[in-house]
Parts: sequence; structure tokens; C-alpha cells
Amino acid sequence: MKEILLQRDGREGLWRIRADDKQKLLRLLFHRYPEREWGTFFRFGFRRTAWGILLAYVDMLVPEPGDLDRRSGIVEFRPGYIQRALTSFDDHPLGIGMIHSHPEGCGVLPSMTDDDMDSYFSEEFERFSAGRPYASIIVAKNEDGELRFSGRLFDRGEWFELTTALTVGAELLREQSATGRRFTTRGEETANGRILERVAQLLGPQTPQKLRNAAVGVVGASGTGSPALNVLARSRIGKIVVVDPGQAKDSNHQRNLAMRFSDLNAGPKPYKVALARRMIEEINPEVGVRSFVGDVLDDMVLDELLRCDVVLGCSDSNYARAALGDIAAQYLVPVIDLAVQMRAEEGVLREQLSEIAYYAPGSPCPWCCNRVTAGAIRYETSTEGEREFMANAAAEAERRGVDGAQYWGGTPPPELTVGYLTTMLGAMGAGYAQTLILGAGTIPHQRFQFDVGLPSFALAEDVREPNKECSCQRLIGWADQAKADRSVSKPAHWPSPFEIP
Ligand SMILES: [Zn+2]
Ligand SMILES: [Zn+2]
Repeated sequence: MKEILLQRDGREGLWRIRADDKQKLLRLLFHRYPEREWGTFFRFGFRRTAWGILLAYVDMLVPEPGDLDRRSGIVEFRPGYIQRALTSFDDHPLGIGMIHSHPEGCGVLPSMTDDDMDSYFSEEFERFSAGRPYASIIVAKNEDGELRFSGRLFDRGEWFELTTALTVGAELLREQSATGRRFTTRGEETANGRILERVAQLLGPQTPQKLRNAAVGVVGASGTGSPALNVLARSRIGKIVVVDPGQAKDSNHQRNLAMRFSDLNAGPKPYKVALARRMIEEINPEVGVRSFVGDVLDDMVLDELLRCDVVLGCSDSNYARAALGDIAAQYLVPVIDLAVQMRAEEGVLREQLSEIAYYAPGSPCPWCCNRVTAGAIRYETSTEGEREFMANAAAEAERRGVDGAQYWGGTPPPELTVGYLTTMLGAMGAGYAQTLILGAGTIPHQRFQFDVGLPSFALAEDVREPNKECSCQRLIGWADQAKADRSVSKPAHWPSPFEIP
């Protein structure tokens, strides 16, 4: 018999799963409840991060008749089922874990039998999979019928705790392991507690706690990003991850809510995330902020975005939109993507468009929605030299009488937006993020546009069917194991990211 000791070195596991997959899984696990246990092997995508391991649920290796011992009250995996799991490692790059239920009143602490099973599986699975991590999860219900879980991960010779479960569906659910550290803080009687008094009256007494436990990522910290951050800081969201590679320009002042008049005279110009951080801390110093001068394509940034309940896309570039689509599908991180477009003719506004898209795992990605193009991504990720080379190649092709667009689609016009529209849309995005976290509502359409200058705002829903061949459908939850199918990787000439403390 082996006792399993968990490492307490700060490494932790985080488990993400889609709501409909979770429902299917729990139906199977609890079908002999309340007296008897049941279990299954499952496949997961994973990523080793700076803080531990992200585990994204893919599917069950559904137990077939004879795979588990039905006569036993506890879950017993028969050799044939174990063999099937072991040989499947040759067919996919994913990890395999085990999940089982405990009978009513037994809690979710691993039993001695569980320790034996996990010792055996972790060693066998590691050997057969050439070093992929192993996960073991236990679920049960408490006296009130609420779901509880505990979990542990084995990776490179060490066991550590699976502390957090994030369920992604119409509602975003964050749950802590029943055996883990407790994050719940009691007492809202401080002055700060009164900040959310009215919000709690509107949406229920759980609201402040849910917001405090949540984390939101914001990619892009200027026009739509800064108002989103302002709203999030005021809502007392517990943690914010903000990412932007750029420095502020004077022309940003009219739409960047984090910028002061005195910043205009600053030289060198401050980083946008430094301004965002200053604004957040002035509004609410209790928010835990991680601010990165970097990009959604950077590994250290991705590590932190993966811990967020939801990510707001506020950068309005093709490559970032494509990358966020990959993150949504492959890591099960839902993304609310925001974009504005304004156009005028001779001083008269013709377009004041806003777009909101919700990229959740399983829904059509930006490629399936025709929202990004390879040409635009190529332009955004090229060096000046490459752009010149492509433009010359296009001109040369035109001279030969061939369409040059395959080499060069032309330089995109500068983005002209005004602060009132970006502020409105950024605030809306932050509002939807909170709505999803609180389970207080949903985003009305997967993707929609409206124009504030037109009757009834000319609201238009964009309904798309996902392309079944697209990686957003084939590789849901494959995490780092889907790397070869990423839309875009970081160009070598882009600078290294760093964090502003
Ligand atoms: Zn057990
Ligand atoms: Zn797709």
C-alpha cells in the first residue's frame, strides 16, 4: 500500500470543462448514487505553466460492459479497460485521468484503495505515455445535494493538488476543491463592502463573493480595454490580467480612460498597461493585477489568461482575434471579442459600428465566422522589410498582368475611432463578463453588430455554422497538444514580454 503525499510548493492544477460535457460525465458517475460508486477514464489536453498545470477535459473513454466490476460497490477498473487506456496513448497526444464518485455521506477524500489505484495508474500511465501527466478526481454531493470535488495530479514524479474547477457554458462556474485552501472570506461589513450594496440587492447576496473570486483577462488596454478595466475594477473583480505591447500616444488620450493630461508631456511615453494598472489601483487597490507588456501570443501571458474565468478581446487585430479563437477552443477559455468601426464622409458620420462576439469552446471560431483573413494576419505579423518585399512582389505581378493581391492586399487604413463609442462598447463587454460570471444572464447572440447612428441601431445577428473540419471543432480542449494547429505563432522579430509589477 502506498500513501500519496501532495507537494505544497505552490504548484497547483486547474481543471476546465464544458458545461454539457460535465453534465454527461456526472450523469454517468452518479448513475449508481447514492449507495454505490462509478468511474471512468477520461482524456485531457494539458499545459505546464508557471503556476502548475492546466487540464482541459476532452472526453470520456466510456466504460463498456465488463470494464468496471458491477458487483462491487466501489469502483474497480478491470484489466481490459486499463489495457484499452494504455494502448490508446499511441493514437493521441493527450493525457488520461480517472474520475469517480463516492457514495452519499463519504466525502471526497481519497480512500486507501484510491491511493493504491492512483499509485498504480500514475506509474503505468507515465511509462506508457512517455511522461504525460496523470489526473485523478473524486466527486460527491454534500448534504444539500451540492457537488463537491477533490483532485490530484501526477507529473514528473510529483503529486500536487487540483485546486480549481472552471465550468464553461451559458454560465461560468468557478469551484474550489473541497480539500483545498479556502478562499472564502466572510464579512462584508467594511466600508468597501458597501460598494456592492446595490449590486447585491439587484442580483443576490452571493454577488460580491462571486465577483471577488473571479478573474478576468483583458487583451488590449486602450480604446475599448481601458473602459472595460475601469468598470471591472469598480465591480471588485478579484483578479485582472491586462496585456498590451504598446506605449501610449498623445492621440490615444481622447479614448484611453487610463490616460491623464499630465501623461501627454511624459517622455518616454508610458506603457499602456502601466497606465491601466495605475487606474485600476486608484479605483480599487484590492484588485490583484497582473500587467504584461506583451502579447496574447506570449507563453507567460497565455499562462495567466488560462486562469481567467473569461477574457475580453479589446485589441481589434486579426492575429489577436485568431489567437483568442484558438485559446477559446483549445484551452476552453471563453472570449468576449469587441470591435468598433467608424467612417465619415466630408464630416458626416456614415458608420458607428460596434461588434460583440462570444467565442466559447464548440462555437464557430473567428475563421468559421469569416472574421479574420490570412492576408491581414500576414501583414500584422510581418517586418517592415517583409512588407516592402511583398508590396514589390505585388507590383511586379500587376506589371505581368497577374492579380497582385496574393502577395500584397494593400496597407490597411489607420483605425479612426472616437472615445464615446469605444467607451460604450468596452463597458458593455465588461458588463457581459460579469453577467456570465454571476450566471445572471447570457450574451444575446453569438455574434452581433449594431450602429448607434441608425434607427433601431440596425441590430444584426450573424449566425454561422462551424466548419466541421476546422480545428475549433476537431481539437476542443486539446490545449498545448493542439500546438501544430494554431492559427498564428509569435513572430521572431517581436520583442520579449515582461511584467510590470
Ligand atoms: Zn474513492
Ligand atoms: Zn473554426
